[in-house]
Amino acid sequence: MHSIRSKITALTIIAIITTVLCVLAVSFFTLKEKNDRESVEMMNLIAQDTKKSIVRYTESIEQSVEMAANIAYDRLDIIAMAESGLIGDDLKNARRTEEQVSKFDKYLTGYCKEIWEPFSSVASHTNGVEAYYFCISPEISKKRHGFYYSRVGRTGFHDMGPIDTSMLDEKDMEHNVWWFEPIKRGRPLWVGPYKDYFGEDRWIFSYVVPVYNGGSFIGVLGMDIPFETIISQVSSIKVYKTGFASLISEDYRILYHPDIKFGTELKDSALYEVQEVMEKQDSTEDDMIRYHTHGQVRQLSFCTFSNGTRIAVIAPEEEINAGWTNMVLNIIIAAVLIILLFTAIIRFIVTVITDPILQLADASRRFARGDYDVKLDYKGKDEIGILTMSFIKMRDQIKSYIADLNHRIYTDDLTGLPNIRYFFALAPEAKKKIKDNGGSPVMVYINLIGMKHFNRQYGYGEGNDLICALGEILKQKYGEERICRLNQDRFAAVTSEETVEGELQELFQEMQSANNGKTLPIHVGIYRYSLGDVNVDIACDNAKYSADQHRGTYNSAFYYFNESMQKQAEDARYIINHIDQALEEHWIKVYYQPIIFAASGGKSDEEALSRWIDPDKGMLPPDDFIPYLENAGVIYKLDLYVLDEALRKMNILKAAGEKVVPISVNLSRTDFDACDMVEEIRRRVDEAGIGHDMISIEITESIIGSDFDFMKKQVERFQKIGFPVWMDDFGSGYSTLDVLQDIHFDLIKLDMRFMQRFNESEDSRIIVTELIRMAIDLGVDTICEGVETGEEVGFLRNIGCTKFQGYYYGKPAPFEGLGKDTKD
Ligand code: C2E
Ligand code: CA
Ligand code: CA
Repeated sequence: MHSIRSKITALTIIAIITTVLCVLAVSFFTLKEKNDRESVEMMNLIAQDTKKSIVRYTESIEQSVEMAANIAYDRLDIIAMAESGLIGDDLKNARRTEEQVSKFDKYLTGYCKEIWEPFSSVASHTNGVEAYYFCISPEISKKRHGFYYSRVGRTGFHDMGPIDTSMLDEKDMEHNVWWFEPIKRGRPLWVGPYKDYFGEDRWIFSYVVPVYNGGSFIGVLGMDIPFETIISQVSSIKVYKTGFASLISEDYRILYHPDIKFGTELKDSALYEVQEVMEKQDSTEDDMIRYHTHGQVRQLSFCTFSNGTRIAVIAPEEEINAGWTNMVLNIIIAAVLIILLFTAIIRFIVTVITDPILQLADASRRFARGDYDVKLDYKGKDEIGILTMSFIKMRDQIKSYIADLNHRIYTDDLTGLPNIRYFFALAPEAKKKIKDNGGSPVMVYINLIGMKHFNRQYGYGEGNDLICALGEILKQKYGEERICRLNQDRFAAVTSEETVEGELQELFQEMQSANNGKTLPIHVGIYRYSLGDVNVDIACDNAKYSADQHRGTYNSAFYYFNESMQKQAEDARYIINHIDQALEEHWIKVYYQPIIFAASGGKSDEEALSRWIDPDKGMLPPDDFIPYLENAGVIYKLDLYVLDEALRKMNILKAAGEKVVPISVNLSRTDFDACDMVEEIRRRVDEAGIGHDMISIEITESIIGSDFDFMKKQVERFQKIGFPVWMDDFGSGYSTLDVLQDIHFDLIKLDMRFMQRFNESEDSRIIVTELIRMAIDLGVDTICEGVETGEEVGFLRNIGCTKFQGYYYGKPAPFEGLGKDTKD
């Protein structure tokens, strides 16, 4: 999960990084542009400065030479020249006399000497001069005239004697450029570097001026400077770390370059790319020239001297950009630091803002898991504060709501005692406490006897009061930690075997005066956990089971559950737990036993009797499940199912045009507690489209006895709507005759026991005879059950019994569909 905190932090950091990157990109390009511009300016400036200082130096030479040249020009006597026949252009072929020649030679000697004096003084005051000279053209004199002074070592100028200019060869420009080039150009100029006329390996530069007069070429006047003087100025230049300056001649030869040999043609060197640009322009301006050498990119800036020589300043691009690269690196470091700083600040701010949100989220999570005591301490007045306040209010409301709900879920409305659900949690605790204190725990089941009757007599309000009174006494005795109201008038408690009997005696005593004396006896069942450490529900069931064995007694008493009950209690549990499945899956089968007219021997009725055919236990007779269902109050499910099956059978027969006889169904006492049985039966019979007189209701004598008035009313209701009501098992109880006086049954079934004792004594026959007679007197039909022999049939027919039922005529048998209904 991405928390709101990490989302806000991430978004803000992305925003900062984006901004910083944009600023970085802008400064990157601005800086690069500035760096490029500045480096071009600087390189150009170095080239220009070098040029200037060289020019300053050479200009002083130029001035000296030109001054001497002016003197030479001024002093030359034009008349002397004319007199010696040296007028015109073609001096070489001028015709001159011996005398003219010798006179002019003499003049020249003086003239040269006149020039030498100021020239030598200027030369010795001019810096760096290597030699100075004036050489007279061979065209005006066949003799050698002029002078040539050169420094030898460092000791000053020495007279090297005039040069024989007639011997100079135009082809040897390497040595003689100083002579021929000014003649060719006809103006003062720098020449060189060229090889010294005297020295072998000395390279020199010369400023030379051709001297003319009256259109005649007189000679060349000049000064030499050593080429090294220029070179040393150039080579001393350092640019950046390893950058340098280079000198390139007008005809694109290397004059100086630290790595390239003197005289190398540019096109043969690493600078071949440069030549192209130099051919087009005199200097670099806004852009430098880039070229590659030795795996390096270099940049070059240059400018040109008046004689076409170029000075170039060269530096590796890497060094030019180094400052810029460093700056970019610094900016990047600054950017990273800014990002880190901002991230920390944002983290802090976001933490401050989102802390209460996270607290709230955490509280909600814990709250959802059921922690209703979760705490929140944010007190801000902002939206989060409002949320927090609302959450706290909600928490308190739900907390109290849940407390209330728990109270409702776990307590009994009427008595305020724990209910059975709560008791499931309380009982094991109580049991453990008793054990820990050395006692033997028991489960006690407490049941008021005759509650229905009580309710009917005093009303439900009074009944509730009695139940509350019992609850209060139990609470006083045991506290609320180990008792509960199970349901209706039943309670349970956990106590110890050692004290239980004393407690119960007290309880019975107190109950006698409870509820202002309007009270009932109690039956108590006790289950000792020493018999088996069973669950709460089983312990309650067992205790109840032992109490229920004594339904017929009406005084307060307690009964222990014993080992012999164990099996029955288990069976009962099995039945109760499976009754719904048994009905749904038709494990319950209805068997029909015929009832025979005494007079005709024909079938008058059938009694519906149920069988539980269990998939595991096999066939179970009614005695093995009916009492359990009655005790649990769910027998009505079975009885209504039997009724439905009987109706279905009748409809099948009816549809097939077969003869249909009335069917009698058995009802139990608790049927009437579960629902309005009269109404329920009427509805089902009507829905099946069967006449009411076709279903007879069998009610045992004992049912009537338990709640006479109520049962009388029910019998009358059945009869009113046309259902015959039969008294079953007549003679098995005690109050038989009273009952017959008050309730008019449509038929009386004599209990089977009379026939079982038929052969035992005369008494039984006498009683049967009297009972039948009494019935005849009351105008009621009779059936004798359990008729098994012809002798019995004969006797009963004689004394006036109306109908017979028994194995003699047929055992109960299932209805297997048409054509299979047997009389067996
Ligand atoms: P009951 O109503 O008195 O039913 C008559 C009982 O006598 C039946 O036992 C029947 O099989 C048996 N019987 C009939 N003729 C003879 C005979 O010639 N000799 C002997 N020895 N017995 C004979 P069953 O079917 O075991 O039923 C026992 C009791 O279970 C019934 O007594 C009835 O009270 C109850 N019962 C059976 N089915 C139902 C039912 O669907 N609902 C209710 N509420 N009770 C039922
Ligand atoms: Ca019966
Ligand atoms: Ca019977």
